[in-house]
Amino acid sequence: MPHIVVIGGGFAGVWSAASAAQVRHSTGAELRITLIAPQRDLVLRPRLYEADPSRATVALDRILKPIGVDHVRASVRRIDVARRRVTTDDGRDIDYERLVLAAGSRLIRPELPGADRLFDIDTLGGAQRLQAHLRKRSGFHATVVGSGFTGLELATELASRGRVLLVDRATEVGPELGAGPRPQILTALDELGIVCRLGVTVTEVGDGFAELSDGSRIDTDAVVWTAGLQASPLTLQIPGPRDQLGRLQVDEWLRVTEDVFAAGDTAAARIDPDHSTVQSCQYAVPLGKTAGHNAAADLLGLAALPFAPDPYVTCLDLGAAGALLTDGWDRRVQASGSEGKKIKKYIMQLIHPPVDDADAIFTAAREIRGRDV
Ligand SMILES: Cc1cc2nc3c(=O)[nH]c(=O)nc-3n(C[C@H](O)[C@H](O)[C@H](O)COP(=O)(O)OP(=O)(O)OC[C@H]3O[C@@H](n4cnc5c(N)ncnc54)[C@H](O)[C@@H]3O)c2cc1C
Repeated sequence: MPHIVVIGGGFAGVWSAASAAQVRHSTGAELRITLIAPQRDLVLRPRLYEADPSRATVALDRILKPIGVDHVRASVRRIDVARRRVTTDDGRDIDYERLVLAAGSRLIRPELPGADRLFDIDTLGGAQRLQAHLRKRSGFHATVVGSGFTGLELATELASRGRVLLVDRATEVGPELGAGPRPQILTALDELGIVCRLGVTVTEVGDGFAELSDGSRIDTDAVVWTAGLQASPLTLQIPGPRDQLGRLQVDEWLRVTEDVFAAGDTAAARIDPDHSTVQSCQYAVPLGKTAGHNAAADLLGLAALPFAPDPYVTCLDLGAAGALLTDGWDRRVQASGSEGKKIKKYIMQLIHPPVDDADAIFTAAREIRGRDV
């Protein structure tokens, strides 16, 4: 029986597997689908800035079991593209006819004195360690390095419980967010009493202090590093060009080689002549659905779907100052304050996949580009 192997149990991996299973279900074809990921849960990474990150999980079994996808709980160590075989860290060899690489991204931690004292919210474990550490310190003083999406959402959330310093080596807050939402972001930071140090970075972390690149020293209970995501190093084992984030370049059907597709944070898919996908759920979900559909369609002789995502939007949580919804690549603000917050809450519910119900999962898997396939 032909076998599709999906590496990764994040948004892209789960929706790849669900989409392939939906094709199998609708055609009645014989197809084996295996998802390989070490953890028990789908981790909803966009919620890891919240005060209780343990709520940002969904058991993979509740999604995969109802739709007949096997879950191998292991990490893939090696991909042999020529033999169409992956090898796991516990020594299993698993052969495939089609592979979907959806192993996501990870934070690159800097090398600096005291780096082992840095916190992050890149993984569930990292976010839980940070919150446990801060809970022991009432009125804590936290330093957040990086004023991109993750840094801003974390800093504004922490500001309700402690003092927060936001550090960025850029000379403006949210360098990659552009000028569109910046005035509202600055107003929110001001309102929440968050102090910004721009044009500097943290160069050393010690017990209760950090040193900045301008030579100054600050007292702090925790330094949280948020800057610098790179695609999984498994991308290095697939032949093909990669971008500066380590992502594999995929064609419009999300193929990297004849038998290998990539989705989510490991894939750079072109959207228009000027833009590629951004590492985000907004793209991980449709990339996953399209890659899984195409892997199955390829094996079953069905038509492949080109990747065509919805227009780009972002929704940035600003803690007690609300949230900002932007639209387009220049991030024009469409909603802010409590109206933005309502939309953020809605989006956070929307990213939860349906559970325990095969029909609901298949229906959601079919929704690609806002239409039913
Ligand atoms: C703190 C934070 C906040 C964010 N906020 C937002 C937001 O507000 N909006 C938004 O759209 N996006 C946000 N993102 C980005 C978003 O979470 C990612 O783009 C999305 O999770 C990517 O999904 P993915 O499935 O490609 O990868 P991931 O979610 O990274 O999942 C990767 C999966 O692969 C598995 N894996 C890794 N290596 C191996 C291996 N060797 N073998 C087997 N399995 C492996 C992992 O265990 C995991 O299951 C945020 C990210 C973070 C960290």
